[in-house]
Amino acid sequence: MSQFETQRSVKLADGTIIPAIGQGTWFMGENPSKEMDEISALQLGVELGMTLIDTAEMYANGGAELIVGKAIKHIRNKVFLVSKVYPHNAGKNSAIKACENSLKRLQTDYLDLYLLHWRGSIPLAETVEVMENLKASGKIKRWGVSNFDTDDMKQLWQITNGKNCAVNQVLYHLGSRGIEYDLIPWCKDHQMPIMAYCPIAQGGTLRKDLMNNKIVQDIAKAKQCTTAQLLLAWCIRNGNVIAIPKASNKTHVHENAQASTISFNQDELDLLDSIFTPPKHKIHLDIV
Ligand code: NDP
Repeated sequence: MSQFETQRSVKLADGTIIPAIGQGTWFMGENPSKEMDEISALQLGVELGMTLIDTAEMYANGGAELIVGKAIKHIRNKVFLVSKVYPHNAGKNSAIKACENSLKRLQTDYLDLYLLHWRGSIPLAETVEVMENLKASGKIKRWGVSNFDTDDMKQLWQITNGKNCAVNQVLYHLGSRGIEYDLIPWCKDHQMPIMAYCPIAQGGTLRKDLMNNKIVQDIAKAKQCTTAQLLLAWCIRNGNVIAIPKASNKTHVHENAQASTISFNQDELDLLDSIFTPPKHKIHLDIV
């Protein structure tokens, strides 16, 4: 059996199955000359099984949502659509308007998942209440958070309906493993998947030593995959993490879709641990 034969997925607490590798959109919609490439990259990704698309009102000031809207116009029912609200828009009235604006740009009448982009000054209880109202009105199917550390999650759990949070989206890649110490175990204990952003460290730019590391390259070569594929497969290796790489290049899209099927043996994991060591104490959440 080839290493590319099994597609992997992750289950949400409500039983919904989503692909373990989806597609990010940060920096899409910034440059009109790239629009067609970005649209067709996203459509190709969906065709290849990366049916989860992550965007945000923040990206290109709504421009990324416009791109996604054009890409999914005729395939909306195949897509698990995620967008995010700015913290300053996450209040009881502003969130409804912000969500409606996102829906307009996305040319749809519902989001599968709506995330609080990061924690701001609006009380969490108010945001949870408006998220629940958006859910009741059918504008969103479920809601979640982003850039929440373990203490934030514990506070969320104390709030009425806080336990309805479906996902926490945070930075995670082989070169930034702090969340393995407490956040991943906490989320696992509470049946909540982590959505990993920057899973390939922004093509290596966040950690120059990742893509260029000789051992990482050698392991990838032995597995007949690229270093980016290795990084993605590593991110999703334990079944509770969804990776959302952004790719506007079609070769990258093909590679990323195939990465879902690569698995590791213990020796390979031990070797990677020896270079990029797992955390032995609490490390504050990494962000970009
Ligand atoms: P990624 O780690 O996904 O890296 C994206 C970069 O990697 C792009 O330059 C892309 O190039 C390149 N790339 C993609 N696939 C490959 C490949 N197979 N081989 C080599 N290079 C590749 O970084 P992002 O910051 O984009 O993170 C992913 C997504 O997470 C975002 O797009 C966004 O949706 C979300 N995000 C959420 C945040 C939050 O606060 N909640 C913060 C940051 C990101 P190219 O485009 O040319 O294909």
